[in-house]
Amino acid sequence: MRQVLAVRLAVLVAGVMGVAFASAATVSVKAFEVEPLTRYRLSFDAEAARGSEASWLLQIRTASGLLPYEGLFDADWQKISSGKRAYTHDFLTPRDGHLLKFETESEGENPQIEALKLEKIEDENLLLNGDFSAGPDNYSGWNTHFLAELTESDEGNPVLKCEASGYAVTDPIPVQAGATYRFTEGSSPGGRLLIYDRDLLRVGMLFEGGIPASPPEFVVPPEAAFIRLDYSDGRSARLPVISQVGIELVKEGPVEPEEKFAAYPGEIVLKPHSALSEVRAAREIQHWVREISGQEIPVLAEPSQDQNPKIFVGTGWAGENFAADLKVLDGSDGYALRKKGNDIYVFGARPSGTLFGAIRLLEDNSDLIFARPQSPFGAVYSKNPKLVFEQADTILRPTFLYRMGHGPVTEGFDDGIWQGRAGLNTSPRLYNNFRRREMGGAPAFESSFMSIIERVPEFEFAKTSVEHPEFYAMVNGKREIRPKGYICYTAPGIAEAMAEGLVSVVKEYESRGEKLEFLHARTRDGWLVCTCETCMAPILLPDGTKLEPKALTSEKDELFFSTRMVQMLNQVSAEFAKTYPDILLTVGAYIYASTPPAIPHDKLLTPMFCAYPSASLRVPILDGEGNDFSAGKEWENKFREYLKRTTAGRKISMFDYHYVGGFSTVADAAREDWLAMKKTGGAYQMHLDGMGSDEAKASGINPWDYDAPEKWIMSRLMWDPSLDPQKLREEYCQRAYQEAAPEMLEFYNLIRAAWSNPDIKAAVNCHTKAPELFNTFIVKPGNEKKLRGLLVKAEGKAKNPHSKMLIQRVLLAFEQQAASLQRVSIPFIPESTKEWDIPGSTFWLQALKFDGFKKVSTWNNFEGAPSEHPTFVSVMRDQDNLYVRFDAQKAGQSDRVEIVIQAKRHSIPYYFALDRKGKSYDMKNNAPWGGLAWTGKVQDEPDHYVAMFRIPFSSIETLDSSGSKFDLMAKFARLVSGKDGSEESSLLGFSITRTHYNNYWTKLTVEKD
Ligand SMILES: [Zn+2]
Repeated sequence: MRQVLAVRLAVLVAGVMGVAFASAATVSVKAFEVEPLTRYRLSFDAEAARGSEASWLLQIRTASGLLPYEGLFDADWQKISSGKRAYTHDFLTPRDGHLLKFETESEGENPQIEALKLEKIEDENLLLNGDFSAGPDNYSGWNTHFLAELTESDEGNPVLKCEASGYAVTDPIPVQAGATYRFTEGSSPGGRLLIYDRDLLRVGMLFEGGIPASPPEFVVPPEAAFIRLDYSDGRSARLPVISQVGIELVKEGPVEPEEKFAAYPGEIVLKPHSALSEVRAAREIQHWVREISGQEIPVLAEPSQDQNPKIFVGTGWAGENFAADLKVLDGSDGYALRKKGNDIYVFGARPSGTLFGAIRLLEDNSDLIFARPQSPFGAVYSKNPKLVFEQADTILRPTFLYRMGHGPVTEGFDDGIWQGRAGLNTSPRLYNNFRRREMGGAPAFESSFMSIIERVPEFEFAKTSVEHPEFYAMVNGKREIRPKGYICYTAPGIAEAMAEGLVSVVKEYESRGEKLEFLHARTRDGWLVCTCETCMAPILLPDGTKLEPKALTSEKDELFFSTRMVQMLNQVSAEFAKTYPDILLTVGAYIYASTPPAIPHDKLLTPMFCAYPSASLRVPILDGEGNDFSAGKEWENKFREYLKRTTAGRKISMFDYHYVGGFSTVADAAREDWLAMKKTGGAYQMHLDGMGSDEAKASGINPWDYDAPEKWIMSRLMWDPSLDPQKLREEYCQRAYQEAAPEMLEFYNLIRAAWSNPDIKAAVNCHTKAPELFNTFIVKPGNEKKLRGLLVKAEGKAKNPHSKMLIQRVLLAFEQQAASLQRVSIPFIPESTKEWDIPGSTFWLQALKFDGFKKVSTWNNFEGAPSEHPTFVSVMRDQDNLYVRFDAQKAGQSDRVEIVIQAKRHSIPYYFALDRKGKSYDMKNNAPWGGLAWTGKVQDEPDHYVAMFRIPFSSIETLDSSGSKFDLMAKFARLVSGKDGSEESSLLGFSITRTHYNNYWTKLTVEKD
């Protein structure tokens, strides 16, 4: 039950009641004095004149007559209709709210208002209208919603129904920092609790995984001043129906004196009903003005009459004055910052541009940097009571319209705030529609070919598998029918089916009032292709010649299968364009399709080029010569050809992997390739993989601890790749590390010198492991001591507490990586279960790699000369098995590869071997064994062979694999014999029979966490 206390109503303005006007008019009915941050219920009876439209609005002004943005209540639901008499409106007054003005608006005759009453709400449940008892069309307390509707449950109770892609967010609820709260009994689960600071800026969240059915009590963090409940889509928890929710105080927080802030000379102005990202833009400016200057700047819903500097936020203010800028920005989420007299305008052609512009305004006028996602130290800035906004003359249209920082979505941490501030707009972190819109994210869709087809009800798997088996890829004469499987590129009707799937996606967005512009269709992550008769038929090329297939696998004939795929995609494009002639489709130029097809892509297709597997990340793809991977030149040629085909009218995108497991300066190489894309005039999307979460990990560090500067630099380069990455690195160091900038810059410069040193021969990709990187670029060049010294010195010099914490994290990462040299962890790759015996499987690329086999020497004659028959070993695992792959180059007539494994020193050795012809050998405790548990497979090629082993951990009987972490000892060797000469080689250069010392073995670690 609500407790409602009547309060004294002060009538300050004589209301004009019941006076009729001939046309649309706003009428002040009454004004009430109110208290700040207080909940009220306004109730009244109204008689709407027959056939006239009327509504009411509330304005809660400050003592000096200003209208704060959050003091205006004029939502669509505030209607006075002819069939209804009693109305209520529950609301919270703003922090400095003083005077409530109640007004009506009408077309035609004004409604009669009677029994007007204002009461304070002193219910212990802090939520306004959390049980929807205000009535079926009263959205009091729930003014922020999308695809959510008040309706009745089957039992006839009022509920708020929210579609999976919609959201329903409560109005802000004031809370005490550090206090404990609980949900009221029966609160609907599934939502999230958003944390807002004093400036109504969202700074974090609780219950990221969804509020559970019996939620625990929770303590709001020290930065919290308000909370909001967000019931919306989300992958982990969907709640279409909210029946009731409430929050009560359990225990007061620590008593803190209320902070007082002087007034900042100026104001921020937002148009009423601004988009979520525009509101965020205003709140960001408000928040950082307070943080930096220690002064308070209001966000107003209308400009004041004061002659103070005003910051006008949003597209709505730009129309008259900056039409030319809007034209430049049109079709993008770029931004402009402009000055006019004393005033500043921040806007984009789209609401998202306004947010990105607001961040730029702050960065250009202070030393603020969003160095990494983690709060509180992720943002670094100096206090400056004299903060003024002088720099505001910039316009920037992003080079890449779609900018993705891709990484797994995590449960406990909101990286989306950083991503939005960094101007990334299609991140999966922004999957929640409320937060996506707030952070400036664009609607985006990406899926594999068959998944797109199966979206169409007529082609869902159950039906297609029976009615259209020909849609699925034929492998070894049999259709491989499985959900979301590989497709046949020539099946009649398949292009039309895929186009239909894509049209249905766009329509789905349209039905929600959203324009989907970024669509990406791709093959699955594999080399598998259809080898049916029609797919293998020669392809007729535009010049009349025929492209004949040279092999049955895409690995051996990339050109043919790439052309085959694009031939189908061109049909999809033509079909799709019948409905949507202006939407570009992005298609993967990935795996075999990385080879430019023999026919051009349709103009509406944008190939997303992906140099995987695998170009080195140390040099641009365009520097094939400098690439230490043997395929370097090949990647350069492919990329150049794609660039040649790109013009302002024919777009190109890139799927990029510029991240490694340790310290690097990867942004340098990325920039060169991205700049080349910009120069074609047709740069479209940049997908940057590896943007992992900044969530605190059990190990203490995460990738942001060693590559935050590179991620920051690359997010800038996605907007403009003509920027100099080293200049950006200097800027990062200056802003993030302040007093310690010289040491930190020297640190990264030393990393950069090794990273870009052509004399250090080492191919690096995103799977290269931390110990290898640390060893190659830090230990071997002799920099370990110096680099560590610089970090220690920097840590001592840093004065800004956030800078200090950032540096401490870098130092911790450095020390953990140094320690990792002692241990080699076998990567856990779930797909290895299925793909271990496919020599070209891309999953083998993620395995741990060993090479540099040495000729076996005698114990007293250790020379360690490199083997003349190079051997490359890859090791990976799944839950139960160890997988080892040997690539034995320059193979001899009689040639075999060998592994010895033992659980620990002095325990029983197990020997496994495969020869070039596929014959297997094994021994246990140096005696013939005939172990049945393990399996081997060999693929012989003209000059080399690939031997793959599957060894169940359980077959090593002395191995205790029950714990979360265990070690095993291994040796890798190779024996070549025959008339061309013999050679025994091994990874460490010792004979496989030597067992005495630990250093004859390679220790491998299995870490299950
Ligand atoms: Zn086929």
